[in-house]
Amino acid sequence: SFPTRRSSDLLIATRNLHKVGEIRAMLGGQFQFLTLNNFPAAPKVVEDADTFAGNAMKKAVALAEWLAADNSKLRIKNLKPDFVLADDSGLEVDALNGAPGVHSARFAGLANSENSPDTENNAKLLRLLQAVPAEKRTARFRCVIALVPVPDEQVENASPVCFAEEPAAQTFDGACEGKIILTPRGQNGFGYDPLFVPDGFNQTFAELGDDVKNKLSHRAQALEKLQKQLV
Ligand code: IMP
Repeated sequence: SFPTRRSSDLLIATRNLHKVGEIRAMLGGQFQFLTLNNFPAAPKVVEDADTFAGNAMKKAVALAEWLAADNSKLRIKNLKPDFVLADDSGLEVDALNGAPGVHSARFAGLANSENSPDTENNAKLLRLLQAVPAEKRTARFRCVIALVPVPDEQVENASPVCFAEEPAAQTFDGACEGKIILTPRGQNGFGYDPLFVPDGFNQTFAELGDDVKNKLSHRAQALEKLQKQLV
């Protein structure tokens, strides 16, 4: 198990406000949340790993190390998270051999390192799937969440025995199966939500809204596993 105090401070290490909103709504009162807004000087992490787990861990570890290096200054400001939580997620479309995958956020402009607007990513997806019939438009959202403890100053000088008792970094994953429809529908959510109908439903994530999405989404499943690990 993953021992923590009852109300740990958790840094949600994403600049995507929709993700922050979903994670806060799902984890609820168990934690005090900080976001990257609390740390304007936090480094931007390049997401160049070829797996969701690799990118999630890279983001969380980089932020945890940056926080640890600035530990005493942050503590004075009462901004010292116990854990960094980073989400890496995306859409896998079977007819496209799993694309856009880890490139979901910058699908429309793959040559750029910057993310593309959701409308452009969605338009590109529909264009590539133009000739693909409904029954072959199967897809899934995947999410990996990395939870990394922020080391304390004392830990660096601690005996190996104490060090071994520090909680280790962990990842939690989730997947949500569904299909890609022909034209966008709905106003809620973000990213590919207006094009994704989860199995067992007739409406898109963007039509179903946050309450339903947060019960069955890839992110919900990963967070459920994370919550079970926390005492
Ligand atoms: P990341 O922020 O680098 O992990 O990129 C995630 C990208 O995957 C987003 O920009 C969306 O395009 C897509 N994505 C991830 N989760 C969702 C979701 O819950 N709904 C819709 N799109 C998502």
